[in-house]
Amino acid sequence: QKAEWAKLVNEKTVTADHHHVELAANIGNPEDLAEVISNGGEGIGLYRTEFLYMSKDRLPTEDEQFEAYKSVLQGMGNKPVVVRTLDIGGDKELPYLKLSKELNPFLGFRAIRLCLEEKHIFRTQLRALLRASSFGNLKIMFPMVATLDEFRQATAILKEEKHKLLEKGAVVAEGIEIGIMVELPSTAILADQFAKEVDFFSIGTNDLIQYTMAADRMNERVSYLYQPYNPAILRLVKIVIDASHREGKWTGMCGEMAGDEIAIPLLLGLGLDEFSMSASAILKARTQISQLKQSDMVELANEVLQLRTNEEVARVVRARCHL
Ligand code: PEP
Ligand code: MG
Repeated sequence: QKAEWAKLVNEKTVTADHHHVELAANIGNPEDLAEVISNGGEGIGLYRTEFLYMSKDRLPTEDEQFEAYKSVLQGMGNKPVVVRTLDIGGDKELPYLKLSKELNPFLGFRAIRLCLEEKHIFRTQLRALLRASSFGNLKIMFPMVATLDEFRQATAILKEEKHKLLEKGAVVAEGIEIGIMVELPSTAILADQFAKEVDFFSIGTNDLIQYTMAADRMNERVSYLYQPYNPAILRLVKIVIDASHREGKWTGMCGEMAGDEIAIPLLLGLGLDEFSMSASAILKARTQISQLKQSDMVELANEVLQLRTNEEVARVVRARCHL
């Protein structure tokens, strides 16, 4: 089977009826690139920058970050690299920031909320990213965005840092795409409004599922509610993809769901443009996609959106796609 998959390592990802999608990888470190390339990744759909911050007992310097971003961008050549700005908080702690304990960390002071408050941390990261931008095809993505105001604040800070760098004579790429993760139901519901201002969406289903179902993604006792194929989740995904396409923008997905063999046919049918997953899942997904017709998957997706439960959806997809 693996030998079969490996034949597609240098191929594009195309359905049996010639619909093209992009299969990208999630990484946490520059060292992860080798596996992405050997598995035929068409880009990086999510570079989780938290590890830069968690590997030391202090904040990474601007130069340390610059080197890491530059090596990923150079390593991928012209292929897109979506770098997510710091997504700390929730399950990921930074002891040296000495943040106060919270009753509900997943609903608390985290990710973009923290960055907009601790602006020096955010500005340092943005400068490192902007300086690295001319070494490849950088796209910047903000995590856990709940409101348009947060997105506007974040982009305003990015613009300021860009101006300051240009004044100092630094080289910064033109036209860097700026996107957001869609991880909150509120953001998915208002995707039509966000789509007018962002360049792209990437759906973070790991969090979107937990927030939609109100089921902590780390809590075994409520894991039965963690339902990727629940029609409520699928309808949110559809809202986001449709909204982006109406504005001529693209939507990716970088949660675990993007590499799931039951979800893939549905996501194809819903029109997802980019699937970002662990590198080891790419070749299997490419093989699966090459055997499906997108037009059939559009029909399948429309059908399962009317079903009632996670299990019913899984059953129908398994039967239809011979899984
Ligand atoms: C997600 O929430 O789906 C996601 C990709 O982000 P993380 O898993 O890092 O929270
Ligand atoms: Mg997340």
